[in-house]
Amino acid sequence: MSNCLFCKIIAGDIPAEKIYEDADVLAFHDIGAQAPHHFLVIPKKHIATLNDVDDAALLGKLTLTASKIAKDLGFSQDGYRVVMNCNEQGGQTVYHIHLHCLGGRNLSWPPG
Ligand code: AMP
Ligand code: ZN
Repeated sequence: MSNCLFCKIIAGDIPAEKIYEDADVLAFHDIGAQAPHHFLVIPKKHIATLNDVDDAALLGKLTLTASKIAKDLGFSQDGYRVVMNCNEQGGQTVYHIHLHCLGGRNLSWPPG
């Protein structure tokens, strides 16, 4: 998708602070971090919203990539949150699915 921000990051047309990359997924630091640790995990394939996914293996890989990075960065034992926003009322602003992983502080619940 030529007009998609995250596809441009995957293509290298827009810089990002990459943490992990393989054939299927890319993880990078969120530019507007909402916690001391805040990174995103995205599929390399363009998928607009969670409503458009039927690939269970890919969704599992996004989640396992997040937990592995949380372990590698040393905040998994303290705790963290993974969340995917979907569409307008879910707070989605970039329409290429991405798993947020936030940690490094106490996170309140329920979210706003
Ligand atoms: P969402 O609101 O769930 O769609 O989340 C989109 C996220 O993408 C927000 O947390 C933004 O801070 C983040 N974001 C937007 N542009 C960039 C960028 N160029 N590099 C890294 N993160 C970005
Ligand atoms: Zn995209």
